[in-house]
Amino acid sequence: MQKLQGIAVSPGIAIGEALVMDSEGFRIPRRFVARDAVDDELARLEKAIVAASGEIAGHRDAIALELGEKYAAIFDAHLLMLQDSRLRSELEEMIRHRHYSPEYSVSRTLRRYASVFQRLESANLAERANDIYDIEKRLLRHLLGHRRENIAHLTSPVLVLAYNLTPSETANLDRQFVLGFVTEIGGPGSHTAIVAEALEIPAVVGTGPFLADVSGGEQVIIDGNKGMVILQPDEETLARYRQEAQEKHTVTVRLESLRDRPAITADGVRVNLFGNIEFPYEVTHCVDRGADGIGLYRTEFLYLGREVDPTEEVHYEAYSQVMQAINGKPVAIRTFDLGADKVPNLPPPADEPNPCLGLRSIRLALRHLPMFRTQLRAILRASVLGDLRVMFPLISTLLELRQAKMVLADVMEDLDEHGIAYNRTMPVGMMVEVPSAVVMIDRFVEEVDFLSIGTNDLTQYTLAVDRSNKDVVGLYNPADPAVLRLISTSIEAADKRSIPINMCGQMSGNPNYTMLLLGLGLRNFSAVPSAVPEIKNICHHVTIAQCREVAGRVMAMENARDISNYLREDLKRYVPEQSGE
Ligand code: PEP
Ligand code: MG
Repeated sequence: MQKLQGIAVSPGIAIGEALVMDSEGFRIPRRFVARDAVDDELARLEKAIVAASGEIAGHRDAIALELGEKYAAIFDAHLLMLQDSRLRSELEEMIRHRHYSPEYSVSRTLRRYASVFQRLESANLAERANDIYDIEKRLLRHLLGHRRENIAHLTSPVLVLAYNLTPSETANLDRQFVLGFVTEIGGPGSHTAIVAEALEIPAVVGTGPFLADVSGGEQVIIDGNKGMVILQPDEETLARYRQEAQEKHTVTVRLESLRDRPAITADGVRVNLFGNIEFPYEVTHCVDRGADGIGLYRTEFLYLGREVDPTEEVHYEAYSQVMQAINGKPVAIRTFDLGADKVPNLPPPADEPNPCLGLRSIRLALRHLPMFRTQLRAILRASVLGDLRVMFPLISTLLELRQAKMVLADVMEDLDEHGIAYNRTMPVGMMVEVPSAVVMIDRFVEEVDFLSIGTNDLTQYTLAVDRSNKDVVGLYNPADPAVLRLISTSIEAADKRSIPINMCGQMSGNPNYTMLLLGLGLRNFSAVPSAVPEIKNICHHVTIAQCREVAGRVMAMENARDISNYLREDLKRYVPEQSGE
């Protein structure tokens, strides 16, 4: 039994068989070869080594010609590793005596080598692990050729273990068979984490290197509540987790019975609980949980995994599906927020050293007007189908907001000219997720119909902490007093101007923060659909006066750790069944 601590990003417990993915997203099959096929399999390995060596030698010569021998030496090192007699004999041993397939033997052996480098203190030496992964990839490409299997064709339930999963790879996981996943890298606010929650599969990210220790096929437990992964658990641990999963299930079922009751605090204040979605099918998850509408539709997921950008009809089709399914309740469509970790399957920009501060989101939209206009046309056309609102992401200056609104007005004119119907009074809002927007919030509230606080980015940009980097996870905390002050300022400004303010970052779906946010005056929460019943239950148990007292105490505190501890204890006191203890 081996325990790994990672970052919990999608709750729940999954127990099942491990499936290991290579660093390019293909599965590494653990296969055995027949005794009488061993010589053929060794010959196949030899052929792959020769082909890979030839390829490396070719690169070596090209680089030597262009940049000189010093740079070509990198490839000499790869060639030496491939020819290394120790590596050769270990591979032969695995195939000849343990009857593993060459693919599995290569992957297992080279990953073991890589992990030795990764564990070294020196950053320089640790980087050598990448050279070994490179050789692994090259050999696997030659061994598997076109037979490389992606994980789209699963036939039995598995837990996926990977170095990393991009948001679009995560979105493509087969929910029928993938019971949960673990990645070695990744952080709490990454979009991979957000998609995992949307898929409602338990997930842990940022465990650090461990794939060298697993081969696939062994039993694994993923504890998405505590961020724990257990490889080859013993019977006692398995029994404990099975029981815990059963207890959680009972609480979930009970909370879901609250579906048709509105979220009203114990002293009678109505709270709106909306759902966040990435895909139209998730509207059902929201309806099933009794959400009051959709508070955030992340439309950029329409672009991920496609070779060409979606047409106006593709957009319209998705939006009308959502409008129909939500049956008259409000829907806030956010215009595409591409860039940073949400990039379409296109080559990455050549020179973007700092994507989170680069051409992402509304900046990208304003730079690619035809693409932006296509989406706005579809949104406007869908606005006659119900209570549709539009909001712009990552607004950082007034000028940017005005430009976005001008493009919208221009598209409206265009529709007028063509006699196409749309809602002329469609509410227009913006996300509050950049500190500069809060600094200028008194001006912004004059120019929008509503605000929505994106705490994932607001935390990242306020504290200068990458939301998807496991190494700074301890600093990424929306309960930091600096972030809380920005939230409080935004709520006050919206109240003063009497415009609605919603919160749609991950913070609003975390029960630990519900009392604090209610106490700060928030009345509109938008969260992953599965969190809606929990937040509703808390609302039923508490009064606004109690929440204000909590907020008062928290706002006097000076650091995130004290605040988080205090809020956890507080939740235990008011709603013990949801404290996660
Ligand atoms: C946020 O930043 O909090 C937000 C809701 O937007 P996203 O997570 O899609 O960046
Ligand atoms: Mg954001």
